Amino acid sequence: MRKLADALIRLAAAFLLALGSGAPTAVAETLPPRDAGDLQKVRVQLKWTHQFQFAGFYAAIEQGYFRDAGLDVELIEGGPLIDPTAVVVAGKAEFGIGNSSLLIDFNAGRPVVAVAAILQHSPFVILARSDPGLRSVRDLEGKTLMGESHSAELMAYLKIAGVAIDRIRLLPHSGQVSSLTAARAARVDAMTAYISTEPFEAARQNIPYQIFNPRDLNINLYGDTLFTSRQLAQQQPQTVAAMRDALIAGWRYALTNQAEIADLILRKYRPKMDRTELRLEAQATYNLFQTDLVDIGYMSRERWQSIGEVYAASGMMPRDFSLDGFMFSSEKALPEWAHRALIWGSVAIVLGGLLAAYIVSLNLRLSASLKTLAAQAGKLETANAELARLSTTDPLTGLFNRRYFDETLATEANRARRNGASLSMLMIDVDHFKKYNDALGHPAGDACLRTLAKVLRRNAQRGGEFAARIGGEEFAVVASNLGPAEATALAERIRRELADLRIPHPASAFGHVTVSIGVSSLGSASAQTHEQLVGQADAALYRAKQEGRDRWLAA
Ligand code: GH3
Ligand code: MG
Ligand code: MG
Repeated sequence: MRKLADALIRLAAAFLLALGSGAPTAVAETLPPRDAGDLQKVRVQLKWTHQFQFAGFYAAIEQGYFRDAGLDVELIEGGPLIDPTAVVVAGKAEFGIGNSSLLIDFNAGRPVVAVAAILQHSPFVILARSDPGLRSVRDLEGKTLMGESHSAELMAYLKIAGVAIDRIRLLPHSGQVSSLTAARAARVDAMTAYISTEPFEAARQNIPYQIFNPRDLNINLYGDTLFTSRQLAQQQPQTVAAMRDALIAGWRYALTNQAEIADLILRKYRPKMDRTELRLEAQATYNLFQTDLVDIGYMSRERWQSIGEVYAASGMMPRDFSLDGFMFSSEKALPEWAHRALIWGSVAIVLGGLLAAYIVSLNLRLSASLKTLAAQAGKLETANAELARLSTTDPLTGLFNRRYFDETLATEANRARRNGASLSMLMIDVDHFKKYNDALGHPAGDACLRTLAKVLRRNAQRGGEFAARIGGEEFAVVASNLGPAEATALAERIRRELADLRIPHPASAFGHVTVSIGVSSLGSASAQTHEQLVGQADAALYRAKQEGRDRWLAA
């Protein structure tokens, strides 16, 4: 059993090692490095201007993750008027960074595929003036709000908050937090914002603000999401997987080297933010990754389902929206979460195997114990039977003993009396046996008793009959169902058979061994109990002796 367990463990280890070596964590490890001319050019449409929001891209470029994956990545800056979905669908970029409204686009028939959820939570919030008349998002009715009427997240938030959208005056976004405190005509009451950027800007400019966050209403959407076209996902899944994995590796680097990447953005990408803002954005962005809970880029069908329900509830999607074909999956390169799931799955299989082996070993041991137990029970049964036999058997002759005779005669007599059936018994005593012993020795006497026992056994073989040795050279035959006449016939047969054996008896007048027999029957001669039966047989035997021996007498 231990051997089997060892083999299982070795097998599991080999399996895990094989899995580990094939881990597609960084595509760099699975694809050979390439020359610049060999790289596949891909364009990524960002949804906003360069800032820490896209740090994973900058890190992946700088660290060579894209190059090692065979990709030459070009980042296209976005802005308030850019719709990344439209750009990708139009074929002007291979990838885009969108948000959860990608699902709305998908259900509207736009051929997009979500590849990785970069931000586990949307940074989308409403930044509002600090004003006693503005206590919740519902107080925005009758107020001005900078935002986009096509922002699905904004519309879902307002709808679910129960705000009458037509009572809000929507203004185009200035992109400036200072609009919250501008002079009367240009001032707005609230603006859409990213929790990872605008609050820091407002704080830096000493602009008092408050935040209305959709998550307060349990609206929990994915944030930035890497997506591609259906065409690319279907025709070049390995390119899509390579892009995704390199980006995730880039993000892993960026999150652990925030200051370095902030500096990199300042140096190479001319952001609209300064170093402090970038670093604050980095920290706030980090919080939206929830790396302690999920892997970077992980997305689940369940969460997309609940996101779809939010949009369906706010009327932006049909209630029977679909997720089929929306999430990218590649057989060639597994995402890390799937790889991890595989490892855990295999661990579960191994543990299951070990458990099964353990159960099997338990069962084997159990059945071995049961076998032993059965063998012991068998022996015990044999021993018990032997004991029972010994306790009722006379060792010299093998006939039943006195004890058996007493007990059985009592029950047989009771039964025969109850049933009105016949029962007879013969008491048999060897004639002049003392003299036989004296003349021929005790061993010869024993042999003589054994010979007599054979004769008795032969004549008490039918059901309800038995012979017993009830004293030294005294025997009994009990015959159920035999009346007095048949019993005396039996007595005569026994007497004659023994006499006919002509066992020499030097001290007997007959010259050979003879017996005397007393016969008694239930119901006759007022024998009503087994004691009376024995008493009368004994009395008859005594008379037979007196009348000359080698004979039988009935009571
Ligand atoms: P009777 O015809 O009046 O019965 O004469 P008997 O000699 O048989 O009378 P008694 O009952 O006095 O003698 C019984 C003898 O049987 C005594 C003993 O030596 C002998 N005997 C009893 N048990 C055994 C035994 O197990 N083996 C042998 N060899 N002899 C036994
Ligand atoms: Mg005797
Ligand atoms: Mg005798």
